[in-house]
Amino acid sequence: MRKKIVAANWKMNLDLNQGAELINDLFNGMPELGDNKLVVIAPPYIHLTQTAEQLAGMADVHLAAQNCHYEASGAFTGEISAAMLKSAEVEYVIIGHSERREYFKEDDAMLAKKVNQALSNGLKVIFCCGEPLSVRDAGTQNSHIENQIKAGIFHLGDAQLKNIVIAYEPIWAIGTGRTASSQQAQDMHAHIRNVIAARYGADAANNMSILYGGSCKPSNAAELFACPDVDGGLIGGASLKAEEFLGIIEAM
Ligand code: PEP
Repeated sequence: MRKKIVAANWKMNLDLNQGAELINDLFNGMPELGDNKLVVIAPPYIHLTQTAEQLAGMADVHLAAQNCHYEASGAFTGEISAAMLKSAEVEYVIIGHSERREYFKEDDAMLAKKVNQALSNGLKVIFCCGEPLSVRDAGTQNSHIENQIKAGIFHLGDAQLKNIVIAYEPIWAIGTGRTASSQQAQDMHAHIRNVIAARYGADAANNMSILYGGSCKPSNAAELFACPDVDGGLIGGASLKAEEFLGIIEAM
């Protein structure tokens, strides 16, 4: 049975004190999640050890990183390897976020290598895909997303796929306040599930968690999460305030 997941992407926000305070507030307000539901927090690298210590008492809340390097180790000043993340008790890593693709020129080939590094070091991957507004306006979003998924994860075997979560994040909805309608989200999530089914079979597709991301907030989360193929959300802005993020967790 696939998992419902609400994941926080703090991006480059919050200093160590603010991060600790936010986790504390989440701890105090966290509802009982129940079976097959989990929360994932992806703070900036510098927070990871502190956040890992704080999350030790929260069984349903898991730690993620926002990125990792595509090589195992070496002369890559300023970078962080998947093995380092694993040693810091990180469980998930976000790969392919549109901000990484756009601002850091991460292309499909690099992302596939990052996926390999993450999996071979025992991390699970939240693999992001999403189309820009020009593609949505041209009506070619389905093939755009299919190509991103094929390039990023289709080299994986069946067993490896079990450690992949997909996050569909239309770029025009990220940080813009403009959310995809629940119908747009459902249509794309169903398409993604079909793409996975065609390569890996119906069982693998049914067991895969597919998250929606893009201006998700307490006021629209319940409607989005009620769609049959939307298994939760990857949350940016609204994950920075305990009350808002807890509202989204409640919606799950
Ligand atoms: C994101 O960047 O992953 C995201 C979904 O951001 P926001 O919720 O702020 O749109």
